[in-house]
Formats: sequence, C-alpha cells, structure tokens
Amino acid sequence: MAGLIVQKYGGTSVAQPERICSVADRIAARYHAGHRLAVVVSAMGHTTDELIELAQKVSKEPPRREMDMLLTAGERISMALLSMALSDRGVPARSFTGSQSGIITDGAHRRARIRRILGDRVREALGRNQVAIVAGFQGVSEDKEITTLGRGGSDTTAVALAAALQADACEIYTDVNGVFSADPRFVAAARQWRTLPHDLMVELATRGAGVLHPRSVELARQYRVPLWVINSLRQAEGTEIVVRGMEEYGVVGVTSDSAKAWLEVKLSRPTALSALWDAAAKGQLAVVSPQFLDGRVSFFVEQDCAGEWKSQLQKLASDGFISSFELRTDWVPVSVVGDRFSQDGAALQAVLEALMSAGVEATAGNASSLAITIAVPAAKASDAVKHLHHVFLEGN
Ligand code: ADP
Ligand code: ASP
Ligand code: MG
Repeated sequence: MAGLIVQKYGGTSVAQPERICSVADRIAARYHAGHRLAVVVSAMGHTTDELIELAQKVSKEPPRREMDMLLTAGERISMALLSMALSDRGVPARSFTGSQSGIITDGAHRRARIRRILGDRVREALGRNQVAIVAGFQGVSEDKEITTLGRGGSDTTAVALAAALQADACEIYTDVNGVFSADPRFVAAARQWRTLPHDLMVELATRGAGVLHPRSVELARQYRVPLWVINSLRQAEGTEIVVRGMEEYGVVGVTSDSAKAWLEVKLSRPTALSALWDAAAKGQLAVVSPQFLDGRVSFFVEQDCAGEWKSQLQKLASDGFISSFELRTDWVPVSVVGDRFSQDGAALQAVLEALMSAGVEATAGNASSLAITIAVPAAKASDAVKHLHHVFLEGN
C-alpha cells in the first residue's frame, strides 16, 4: 500500500558519493512504487567529529552558539548532494534545512529539544510530488537561533517529522541490521531483536546503545509512530519498535557508555538536593541513574558537559549547599537492561558476581525495574559488557 514514509539515513549510509547514489537508488525505487517520501539525512561519515576537531583547533572553549552554526553545515552538505543524486534519477526533490522545515526547538545550544514542527515547506514539496529532504540534527529556536539536538539527534528529527506529518512509518537506515542485545561491533555473539517494546528501547538508548537517539524512541512512543531500524547497506530484516503487549522479554541487552562520567556530590544541607536538581534542570544537564546514600548523591553525567557541571557545582559550593564533589571521567556506566528486575532481587547480585568473576571492580550500582547500572573503570567497560552478555544472554 502506498503511503507517506519518513526515512532517515545515518552518517555511514551517506559517507561517500557512491553511498549517496545507492541511497538515491533506494529512494527512487520507493518513489516510483508510488510512496510519498520525506527523507532525513545525517552528515557524511565522520564530518561532525571533524568539525568538532576543527573548532578545537581555533578555540579552547568554542561558544555553543557558534558550534551549532558550524555543526549544522554537515547535514547541509549531505542533503544537497542527495537531492542532486535524486534529480539525476528523474526524481523531483527539494532539500530543506531544519529552520526551513520549521523545526522549532528550545534555545539550548548543542542539546536542544524539539518543541514543534511547522513543516509547511515539507508538506508543500510532498504536495507537489517531490521528495522532501530534511537536514537532520538541527532546528531553530523561537529567537531564530540555529540549534542542534545532541549527538545522534537526526533519529529524533526523523521521528518528530513522522509524528508531525502523521506518516505511515519512520524507517531509520543505519549500518547494522537492527537493534542487537549488545553493540555488534564489539560483541560477536550479540543477537538481533525482530521486535522490541518502546520502554526497553528507551532504556537501551539512554544507557548507551547508540543505534537510536533516546529522545527519538520517547517521541515514537508518545505519538505512536511506527518505527523501524533497518540496514541501508544490505538487504536484511530489521527491528520494529513496538507497543508493549502482554509478553515478557527478559534480559534484552547489555550496554556501556563511554561518553558518560561519574559524579559524586557531598551535600551540606537537606535542601541541597533540590538546589542540585534545579541547577541541572536550568542548565539542561542530564542526570542518569542517581543514587543517594549517607548525605552523598552520585549519578552519571555527559562528559561533554563536565565544564558546565563544574561551574554549577562551584556555585552551589560557594552558596553553602554542597561541601565537595568529585567528577570521575575514568568511570563509566555498564548496564543490563530487561523487564524482569522488579521481581528478581537476585539480578543485582548476579550482575555483581559476573563482574567480579571478570575481574571488573564495581564501584557503585543502581537497580530500577528495567535496568541495572554499575560504575566500572572505563578501561574495563568492554570486558564487562562481553562478560555480562555471556552470562545473561548466551544461554548459560
Ligand atoms: P548512524 O550514523 O546510522 O546514525 P550510529 O553509529 O549512530 O549510526 O548507530 C549505529 C551503530 O550503533 C552501529 O554501528 C553499532 O555499532 C552501534 N550500536 C551500539 N549498540 C547497539 C545495539 N544494541 N544494537 C545495534 N547497534 C548498536
Ligand atoms: N551528524 C550528527 C552526529 O554525528 C547527528 C547524527 O548523526 O544523528 O551526531
Ligand atoms: Mg546515529
């Protein structure tokens, strides 16, 4: 059945001109089969990383606003090239920046959240039977400032656009067949899920499974967007993110997140915790897996935000809310995600035993109903993931 499809192609899928041409072939085939298509693209290959390195060569602390101006250039290149490749194939296409597409975000540079999508020009293009190509990862604030959505944010552009257009499906094309029980690049025994419910996918994504941007899964759940992860490089069955039914999934995956660091804060008065959360909320600083014990609170933060955390914490210390803090970038989170933990008191024990037998020091840990997260030395994270995967997912 012909319908309106939003597709998203990630960096590897458009890394070279030849790959852009094969993406164009794929789109042309769907277009000629009668589908209407809005296509979200990421920057080519490692472009975003290269732009970040470039900025670091000219500035010790590049202003966040200017970083967004710079980084959005990456997606502008790929959207224009894809549009050209389509026109060569006789497919009418128009490319649009985030701002032209009316992707309105808040003003938080480098980690903005989409507030709404106007989408007039995208709808207009679709109405003229053109393929609309939209730059991923970017938007514009109410103050007309250009923003980006955080690393990996093109997935969120695609799902938000699919919700706004009430698309029949959102297909995320990437360089693996779908969602696996661990990063298949590092765990050879990782197995692919054909379907996975939103709640478990959100947990996997927030705890480091880079295959989908966490916010994209939250939006898919909220707006009931049919969401798929599919390989763009070869023909294979993908993974469908589904509404949770009655079935239980057990343990679905093991993740680690080298972009995070561990932060421990000593509080000096009872109101300190709310002052700390207020500071985090104001600065839009993510707090992952917090735990409170004995006047101390610890949680994971984005390493990218270390500088901002330090200045917030120094202010809280001078205001007398906290007495000290320690930021450990050499400790990262490793998580086991699944839907049985609330009934299974032994799960945390099993995780700790598995880590001990792999010779991995478990510094601190936290269990919720859908995940167990442990701080481990960064150098041991990949051993920890392999071993936990072996214990929980390889049938022993
Ligand atoms: P894209 O550029 O297409 O957005 P990403 O690099 O952001 O691609 O995401 C795809 C990568 O996510 C894969 O190459 C894989 O190494 C990694 N990954 C991490 N965890 C998982 C997982 N649980 N399942 C599948 N892929 C994963
Ligand atoms: N190009 C951006 C990044 O590398 C966005 C994305 O790929 O989703 O993070
Ligand atoms: Mg990605």
